[in-house]
Amino acid sequence: MSGATFTTVLNCMDGRIQEPVLSYVREDSGCPYVDNLALPGPARAFSEEGEPYLLGLIEKGLRVSVEVHGSNSIYLVAHHDCAGCPGGKAEQLTLLRQAEAQVRDWFPHVKVKLLWVNEEWKVEPVT
Ligand SMILES: [Zn+2]
Repeated sequence: MSGATFTTVLNCMDGRIQEPVLSYVREDSGCPYVDNLALPGPARAFSEEGEPYLLGLIEKGLRVSVEVHGSNSIYLVAHHDCAGCPGGKAEQLTLLRQAEAQVRDWFPHVKVKLLWVNEEWKVEPVT
């Protein structure tokens, strides 16, 4: 238990992963409320091919969750068969680590965790 009421997910919008990710994060964080920022393939927004408006929207959403809701943990999600962030697992995890570096830079005092949703729609922590 973190003591915080809210935790934060930067999620893909893909309908197949919403419930698995939200229930994993609720359990892992111990927080009853999960702020779910769901966009198409969000890890890609942090790369050179990403669209700047999407990155701005991500930063805005994360700031509201951290600064207004007091979240002290952010989960970054990538998944199998992502339409918004095509590429295999290795490629997507590289993008996810770039995203992690930027999010840590924005929020140095917040815990950042990476998640991969596999081809069976099960959530795996990325170490
Ligand atoms: Zn996706």
